[in-house]
Amino acid sequence: MTTTTDAPPPGPPCPRCGNHGIPIVRGFPGPETAALALIEKVKLGGCLVGPGQPAWWCASCDEGFWEPLASGGTQD
Ligand SMILES: [Zn+2]
Repeated sequence: MTTTTDAPPPGPPCPRCGNHGIPIVRGFPGPETAALALIEKVKLGGCLVGPGQPAWWCASCDEGFWEPLASGGTQD
């Protein structure tokens, strides 16, 4: 359980380029989170804590994005 390959699953595709987003981790990162950030498995949100912040990060576009809503789906 201490392997560095224990990375989180890829996030939803970026609305711009289609690459899988990575989770934005907020707060002070632990050693494992910091290691994942170095290999761009997660994005450190730092002190950007608050409402209106994106949940995912695209390393290609270098910007955050929200998880896109399922197209064509009905949601009441
Ligand atoms: Zn992108």
